[in-house]
Amino acid sequence: MFELITLPYAPDALQPAISAETLAFHHGKHLQTYVNNLNAAIAGTPFEGKSLEDIVCSADGGIFNNAGQILNHNMYFLQFRAPREGNAPTGKIAELINAQFGSFEAFQKEFAAKGAGLFGSGWVWLSADSEGKLVITQEGNAGNPLTRGLKPLLTFDVWEHAYYIDYRNARPAYIGVIWSIIDWDVVNTRL
Ligand code: MN
Repeated sequence: MFELITLPYAPDALQPAISAETLAFHHGKHLQTYVNNLNAAIAGTPFEGKSLEDIVCSADGGIFNNAGQILNHNMYFLQFRAPREGNAPTGKIAELINAQFGSFEAFQKEFAAKGAGLFGSGWVWLSADSEGKLVITQEGNAGNPLTRGLKPLLTFDVWEHAYYIDYRNARPAYIGVIWSIIDWDVVNTRL
């Protein structure tokens, strides 16, 4: 049985980037529903007992959608910490971003454009390919770069439920603010 992850910060810790109300719905309701749905869907199937990563890489239909949404949200919620002014990458990921995109600002611009430009619901991802090169991809609905053979490092949820309470329809404003809460230590650990 999969369980809802416990958040490693207080419900109001991410304010003003993400409100306690958004977290209550997004983590407490949306993610809980994906967990409940996946547990019901895999009961008595060969997917029972497999990891989320294995299920995402081998399932389709509703099992893929719910497993993908759990994996994606776990990565999303666990990459945050309290807001910091001038929050920027550190360590190895900073080196790679600067080498490949020229600067953090240039990387942010490309990542934000891919997030804002994704039509409908989905996720924008930073991943590493098998040679260690950074790749930005858009994934619709429950998509995860694992299915393309990439190693996912960072993700912004651009489903409306991620920002509608705090930013209404202004997806670019939400994308612009959540850079302040990225825990780059987590991104370096994933790398
Ligand atoms: Mn979401």
